[in-house]
Amino acid sequence: ESSTQTLVDMIDGSVARFGDRVALDFFGATTSYRRLGDQVARVANGLRRLGVKPGDRVALVLPNCPQHVVAFYAVLRLGAIVVEHNPLYTERELRHQFEDHGAQVAIVWDKVYATVRDFPKDMGVSKVIAVDLTQAMTLGKRLLLALPIPKARASRSALTIGRLPSDALDWDSLVGSRRLRPSHQRPGVGDIAALQYTSGTTGAPKGAILTHFNLRTNALQGEAWVQGLRPGEEVVYAVLPMFHAYGLTLCLTFAMGTGSRLVLFPKFDEGLVLDAARRTPPTFMPAVPPIYDRLVTAAAKRKMSLRGIRFSISGAMSLPVATVQRWEDATGGWLVEGYGMTETSPVALGNPIGPSRRPGTVGVPFPSTEIRVVDPDDPTVDRGFDEEGELLIRGPQVFSGYWNRPEETAEALLPGGWLRTGDIVSVTPDGFVTVVDRIKELIITGGFNVAPSEVEAALLSHPAVQDAAVVGLPSKAGGEDVVAAVVLKAGASLDVDALRDHCRTRLSAYKVPRNVVQVGDLPRSLIGKVLRRQVRESLSEK
Ligand code: ATP
Ligand code: MG
Repeated sequence: ESSTQTLVDMIDGSVARFGDRVALDFFGATTSYRRLGDQVARVANGLRRLGVKPGDRVALVLPNCPQHVVAFYAVLRLGAIVVEHNPLYTERELRHQFEDHGAQVAIVWDKVYATVRDFPKDMGVSKVIAVDLTQAMTLGKRLLLALPIPKARASRSALTIGRLPSDALDWDSLVGSRRLRPSHQRPGVGDIAALQYTSGTTGAPKGAILTHFNLRTNALQGEAWVQGLRPGEEVVYAVLPMFHAYGLTLCLTFAMGTGSRLVLFPKFDEGLVLDAARRTPPTFMPAVPPIYDRLVTAAAKRKMSLRGIRFSISGAMSLPVATVQRWEDATGGWLVEGYGMTETSPVALGNPIGPSRRPGTVGVPFPSTEIRVVDPDDPTVDRGFDEEGELLIRGPQVFSGYWNRPEETAEALLPGGWLRTGDIVSVTPDGFVTVVDRIKELIITGGFNVAPSEVEAALLSHPAVQDAAVVGLPSKAGGEDVVAAVVLKAGASLDVDALRDHCRTRLSAYKVPRNVVQVGDLPRSLIGKVLRRQVRESLSEK
């Protein structure tokens, strides 16, 4: 699985092969592959007339919607580089990223139009195109207003909903551009396709440079993963945001490369997913554990069947075995865990989709992908099979560096093309990998390393605990203390001693939290990862 195709070749191939089949489905409004191809050509023309040239960065700040897909391929068609952004980022976060990548043209949803337009001119953003999603979604008003609006810009951008300033360049004017001869710049397979920002879990997000080759190859590796895939017949649900590498490859590229119907959700909402499933049930659904749990509960409430979802893939965080059981019972299909990171386009390991999957592990390396487990203090020293160590990855999906960050690039990419993941893993003798935790989040207490995930699992096994995050806080004795933030189930009250006793039955003494603090909820990234860094900050303020 090494692609000789660019993502543009891929979409052209699908338009030719699957013409009348549905490519996009947005609340039941559908777009065929042929029409998608036509829209991509028109928008590419419109962008070219705005001055977009090969190698230029074009920023997208969009939730999942048809315009997002069209814009993505239109930018690539010009040989330019897509830079995706979390559409719910605050003004400060967006500004930080725009300063980093320096895009001059941005295609954004209406809610952030005013924010991006008002960025200082010396940042270089000169043309901002607004996508009026309020108009585009018939069912949308309720939905848009239900999206959490970050406090920092709530008052200002609430005004822009559905009322674009009259000087705004709008999407329709781009699409409306007369279709010119498609004398587009052809990108090469080794050209940069996207700058994908990492999630910012351990520090400021970094822009990972991903080529057409990286991204297309990873989607092909994904296709090879799914035994019994039926090109032109699958229904892929994009409940994950496409601005994140996970949704970008496993929803968007996977679906468009296999002639599937891509059902787009601008945000995850179990009611919307089940409504859509009544019309066109999914057959393939990449997601994260909390989404699978919420769907099972909501479907049971509605007495609705989830049968027919054949392939479900979980990544980004560890997948509890109980979630696997519930989901597989409800769907009759498989739920398997994979592992990856933005820097690997993003998937590097996965469980076989079938009876030989091993819940509790992230599976085995993808085809053409190699791994090593090394001493995190000296990555030239390999660890034995039964020892924990840092995971290194080498393969065709591995990125070539971070945008504008030579030092971080040199730290992450070792000679020979090995990527340091920053994650501690162990490997079984037959090659299945278990993720222990992130090196940066290990807690050092009394000279021992404690993996927060192990302590969180112990806390979560207590019946009163709904959610838990474990962090290290500076200890008076030097080093760190293990401290837990917990969200309790409705009706439960905090009993610190009982929770510590419970942990003591499962963990060595030094891992037991010194203190347990009750919180209302835990900060999570949009894809659902607990942000332990923020938990640590808020606990140390107390
Ligand atoms: P940043 O690099 O900015 O700190 P991030 O690492 O969270 O953020 P991503 O690239 O989205 O950004 O996430 C990759 C990380 O997600 C991996 O390094 C790993 O820690 C975690 N991860 C991915 N899959 C799994 C999994 N199946 N189980 C546990 N952790 C996982
Ligand atoms: Mg990372």
